[in-house]
Amino acid sequence: RAKQNGRNGYSFFTSDLEDEAVRRLQIINALRHALENHELSVHYQPQFDARDGCIVGAEALLRWQHPALGAVSPAEFIPAAEESGLMLPIGEWVLRQAVRQMKAWLDQGMQPFVMAVNLSATQFRHPDLPQLVASILQQEQLAPEYLELELTEGAAMHDPPAAIAVMDRLHERGVRMAIDDFGIAYSSLSYLKKFKIYKLKIDQSFVHDIGSDPEDRAIVAAIINLARGLGLRTIAEGVEHPAQLEYLRAQGCDEIQGFYYSRPLTAAQFEAFVLEREERRVA
Ligand code: C2E
Ligand code: MG
Ligand code: MG
Ligand code: MG
Repeated sequence: RAKQNGRNGYSFFTSDLEDEAVRRLQIINALRHALENHELSVHYQPQFDARDGCIVGAEALLRWQHPALGAVSPAEFIPAAEESGLMLPIGEWVLRQAVRQMKAWLDQGMQPFVMAVNLSATQFRHPDLPQLVASILQQEQLAPEYLELELTEGAAMHDPPAAIAVMDRLHERGVRMAIDDFGIAYSSLSYLKKFKIYKLKIDQSFVHDIGSDPEDRAIVAAIINLARGLGLRTIAEGVEHPAQLEYLRAQGCDEIQGFYYSRPLTAAQFEAFVLEREERRVA
């Protein structure tokens, strides 16, 4: 990635950093208008029961298509949104969009499942979050048991006593929490016990080599056992191959999410996906 025009290591380094800073600024400036210009959309990735293959959930995943920058990955623009103060309005938009979609699907008679929405660290830390979630659910008329909020392990462990308080308030309102990307951050197990959480999402980095790497197999088995001991459900993300699915099933992982079953889909594609599976079932 280093540029060829510098004379020494230092200038290679700064010119790379400059490129990154310029790109970051472009992203932030473009992101300021993304909502009003209708460049954002939400895709939905189904989540499946590991035993019977039924759809038990959908994860809402933000997409951004910019006229000049093209499709920008959330892995790149979410941190930029956090840094620039744009995450709160964008996060609120995603939450409302996902809640509204779930309500529409239930009204259409789609089999019930749970809508999972990612929360950024800033959203989670904002004192109005529990009230915001409650009012969106009320305005869109969705019962709280259809909503699950995903918080990364890193964000939860940043200030555990504060996280406990927020989780308690969400729990009182009947909303479930899941810990996302579990296993990669530094986790204090004694806090895990105090978090009002429902589910651990095993990070995809462990799932990736599950077929071949004995250490990853051991870590995944340990997370599933830990969750079982704490009375939590488990979901594995990033499942792409049957060998991964087989191992996860054998270990008693509850739910599966990944390209093996389905990529994230537009709302229309999701409806078609559900319909096709229902037709196959009755056929
Ligand atoms: P995440 O919450 O851990 O979401 C899972 C990511 O893994 C998604 O990437 C999904 O498309 C991808 N994925 C799912 N199955 C597979 C698979 O089988 N193989 C591979 N290689 N990847 C798979 P995506 O959509 O690019 O999102 C990346 C991250 O950006 C998310 O990770 C989440 O941290 C963040 N993000 C996305 N949407 C939102 C949002 O609305 N709010 C917040 N705060 N963060 C979001
Ligand atoms: Mg997630
Ligand atoms: Mg994840
Ligand atoms: Mg992830």
